[in-house]
Amino acid sequence: MVVSMGLEANLRGLQERIGNACRRAGRDPESVTLMAVSKYQPPEAVAEAAGLGIKVFGENKVQEAKAKIGRCPGSLRWQLIGHLQSNKCRDAVQLFEMIQSVDSLSLAREIDKCAQKAAKTMAVLLEVNVAGESTKFGFSPEALVAELETLNALPRVEIHGLMTMAPWSPDPERPRAVFRELRKLKERCEEILGAPLSELSMGMSGDFESAIEEGSTLIRIGTGLFGSRSADRREGAGKEPAPKEL
Ligand SMILES: *Cc1c(COP(=O)(O)O)cnc(C)c1O
Repeated sequence: MVVSMGLEANLRGLQERIGNACRRAGRDPESVTLMAVSKYQPPEAVAEAAGLGIKVFGENKVQEAKAKIGRCPGSLRWQLIGHLQSNKCRDAVQLFEMIQSVDSLSLAREIDKCAQKAAKTMAVLLEVNVAGESTKFGFSPEALVAELETLNALPRVEIHGLMTMAPWSPDPERPRAVFRELRKLKERCEEILGAPLSELSMGMSGDFESAIEEGSTLIRIGTGLFGSRSADRREGAGKEPAPKEL
């Protein structure tokens, strides 16, 4: 397989920075999963990344994933990281091993129903809008705590942890505070549930080092790996959150 120097060099650079952040935090680099965010990337780019050893891929639209996954190597693990509309739950439950973007109780209920029909259990992360940005989806920390036991009682939904997107800021300390807040919230959730949650999905190309230092177990890297998305649209792209759909 032909692997472009760009992708390989980007990956080596990321691995070095992940290693350094882990060393600063006294963590094992094995405890951080690098997810390749392949939205807008063709199957060829996914195959290249897979050839370099990446196993976990993130997509933020069901339709795009549906068209792409079958054209990619078969051994990969796919997770949904973008807002899910309830009418696409059925496909999402079939396509993904995990839905990271569960942002409301009503969506969780719909996933539960679809998983029941598909005779499977769906692994999920609960997305939290830590900074309370009106442009972002996610539970407020208060709503999450209030609804956690109801969410946990859904028989076909298995909660593995929390996910967040930090607000973009030129100040590197701003995302750090959000990441720290999410970690504390995970501890609070573990107390409520009386069980450990394994995943803390936080950190993107621009802020993954502070996320790792604050306890991230999965970083979601798009542009830092693949370069800028050539077909990038305003919608769902980069640091600008997609506008909420009505
Ligand atoms: C696009 C996206 C990413 C990756 O962003 P980059 O800045 O390109 O690394 C991570 N998480 C979510 C939810 C995304 O939509």
